[in-house]
Amino acid sequence: MKSVDDARAEILAAFAPIGVERVPLLAGLGRFLSADVLAQSDAPPFDNSAMDGYALRGAQTTGAAREAPIALRVRGESRAGGPVPAALSPASAVRIFTGAAMPADADAVVLQEDTTRDGDLVLVREAVRPGANVRKQGSDLRAGELALAKHTRLSPGELGLLASQDLASVAVYRRPRVAILSTGDELRDIGELARPGSIVNSNAYALAAQVLEAGAEPWVLPPCRDQLEEAQAAIRAGLLADVLVICGGVSVGEYDVVRDALVAAGVSLSFWKIRMKPGKPVAFARAGAVPVLGLPGNPVSAWVTFELFVRPGLRKMLGDPRPERPRLWVQLSQSIKRTPGRTEFARARLHVDGHGSVLAEPLARQGSGSLPSVVCVDALLVLPAESETLAAGARVEAILLGAYPSHA
Ligand code: AMP
Ligand code: MG
Repeated sequence: MKSVDDARAEILAAFAPIGVERVPLLAGLGRFLSADVLAQSDAPPFDNSAMDGYALRGAQTTGAAREAPIALRVRGESRAGGPVPAALSPASAVRIFTGAAMPADADAVVLQEDTTRDGDLVLVREAVRPGANVRKQGSDLRAGELALAKHTRLSPGELGLLASQDLASVAVYRRPRVAILSTGDELRDIGELARPGSIVNSNAYALAAQVLEAGAEPWVLPPCRDQLEEAQAAIRAGLLADVLVICGGVSVGEYDVVRDALVAAGVSLSFWKIRMKPGKPVAFARAGAVPVLGLPGNPVSAWVTFELFVRPGLRKMLGDPRPERPRLWVQLSQSIKRTPGRTEFARARLHVDGHGSVLAEPLARQGSGSLPSVVCVDALLVLPAESETLAAGARVEAILLGAYPSHA
């Protein structure tokens, strides 16, 4: 049986970006640049004032002090969006506002607060050095310089930068389309007539949401029954996607037809068991460039194994340079009873104590079929295969699932 780490390494190696596309700027939010972006023009585009005040030559203010001001004549003004002001004439200053173009020959701005206005004179009460309070053309970026590197994640700040460079669209990695195929004679959809022994195909919804949350596009296929030919046909359809995720039917029972159906569809399996809990039966195969994952049907096992084996792969496809969730060492708030043998992923909530330590509270219910055990979960605690019962206060590694704590 594969160890979790070996399985993860082998599975992740099968995922790579599937292509690039150009999208309107806002549609790039949360996606990753597929190419370097060079500055189209200087930023700022022209010398401008960082403050409201008076534009002048710094040298004219040498020796100015609160009690010994230097008087300059105010000739004209420059406001943001206004016409370019005339060049400074000797012993004069130009009234200027934040973002307004600097007059030629002026090299500094004295703050309004450091002056007193007296008719068409301004009394400068503070010496300013050349360059003070001026944003020089190209001081942030020069045309042709690297503005954003390939693989940068586009957050609101990056989108603002691209917009400031007059760019209406952006080249990003394509979002993979992920086929989700549920298997099982017992499955029905929400609202469908309940038959004896039937259950709602909840995994299709949870997995589709996980795909969406990862930034990819879910394609939910009609569920198929535990029947070889039907599963084989459904698998062929699913292989038209960029990734195929199958859930249920990968175990060892007589009605677990997925492995045989994959083989019949010409897909050869690399492995189908991982030494982990929950979620021992996880099948992995590559059909050409399409990674195929068979996840266990138990809802919690499906959720956890998607999180561990599919999500990082999808993030790689999306161009994320750090496709894995962040990890953190945390302290157990209570003991965990366990039998050594398989790496266990325990659902936990996190709390920050008065000293800033992060405490992990494992949920009481850890059953692989118990959906309430995935409610308000902040982290998966990685309990090493060989570890025995862990005492309260023990330090364990936690995979952070999002912002935490997610609840009060
Ligand atoms: P299996 O992996 O097919 O042996 O299924 C294991 C358990 O998970 C069984 O109790 C199934 O009824 C349940 N299960 C399988 N598929 C789903 C699904 N799509 N949604 C909810 N539960 C499921
Ligand atoms: Mg089944």
